[in-house]
Amino acid sequence: MRAVVYRGPNDLRVETLPVPHIRAGEILVRVAVCGVCPTDIKKIHYGTVPPPRVFGHETAGTIVQTGALVRGFRAGDRVALHHHIPCLGCHACRHRAFAQCAQYKRTGITAGFEPAGGGYAEYVRVMPFVLPGVVKIPAGNSFAEGAMLEPVNTVLKAVKRLALLPEDTVLVAGQGPIGLMFTRLLSLQGIKVLATDLLETRLRLAKAFGARHLFQPASPSDGPAPLSARKNPKGTHDSIESLVERITRGRGFDAAVIAVPSADVVRQAQRLVRGAGQVLLFSHTKRGEHAEMDLATICVDEKDLIGSYSADVTLQREVAQLIFTRKFDVRQLITHEFPLGQTAKAVHLAAHPSAESLKVVVVQNSVT
Ligand SMILES: [Zn+2]
Ligand SMILES: [Zn+2]
Repeated sequence: MRAVVYRGPNDLRVETLPVPHIRAGEILVRVAVCGVCPTDIKKIHYGTVPPPRVFGHETAGTIVQTGALVRGFRAGDRVALHHHIPCLGCHACRHRAFAQCAQYKRTGITAGFEPAGGGYAEYVRVMPFVLPGVVKIPAGNSFAEGAMLEPVNTVLKAVKRLALLPEDTVLVAGQGPIGLMFTRLLSLQGIKVLATDLLETRLRLAKAFGARHLFQPASPSDGPAPLSARKNPKGTHDSIESLVERITRGRGFDAAVIAVPSADVVRQAQRLVRGAGQVLLFSHTKRGEHAEMDLATICVDEKDLIGSYSADVTLQREVAQLIFTRKFDVRQLITHEFPLGQTAKAVHLAAHPSAESLKVVVVQNSVT
């Protein structure tokens, strides 16, 4: 079969690998769609894990073979896969810190080599311990919708870390695919979202996804400008401070979600949330970045600085419901499809988004 093998930093090669052999408790899936995820881009760019590997973990496809011990699935089922499953029994799991569970850190889907997702290949082997996360895709939904379960799951998990009441006001900084997912999920819960982004095209979609307020920064020459220097889409030079003042009657944001990897934006958000509000980091996945902060904003003002990483399999049913009923129509997020042989191009576009690009996916057999 054809597979895109990571051979070192920025080195993805189309190679021929054997179709994986499955054992009695495993299933073999022919991949139809695999989303390009920022965490894979990071590994490919910075070489944070040793090669060779086949990446790609936002995977949907068709079961072609099931092991003798597998129950509940059969060849022909269209499924969305989930590559990380917590054990639910360890110390971390008892605290619901699933992403810190040792079993969770093991990847249970592979196209060959050290398991790394394998979605950038024609076939993947799904191991027994991740089968509880496999979801069947209803006949009326596409593989692409199935491939969006994993990223939407990570965002829903983060949303649930926020202690919000209906009608609260939340800043979502950055309207890339992840920021837009936050905007949609928060809006569906009756939260008033103020969405910011440098790109007007993204702000328009944020509005369609339910954002009540939009704010556009001045375009930065290199790196994001501080939020205070931003102007709104109508071109009036309303500062974000005066905007939040107006829309929250002087209280400040109840929470802020930082979906851009900028320390400046974190500091600004820490200032703009109300006392006992929350600032949630979602895009700071690269280690070694430091930022200065007035620690009294945490101690005296009781502003929580929190993070969220990866998915929560106990939310799979809720996520599937949101996507497959199209209450959250994720199809609007998918702007680019590349064939398997052009996975490197797909990764490049996802790493260097254009004004029009949002979610980039790799598709096979021209199915979507
Ligand atoms: Zn992902
Ligand atoms: Zn565990």
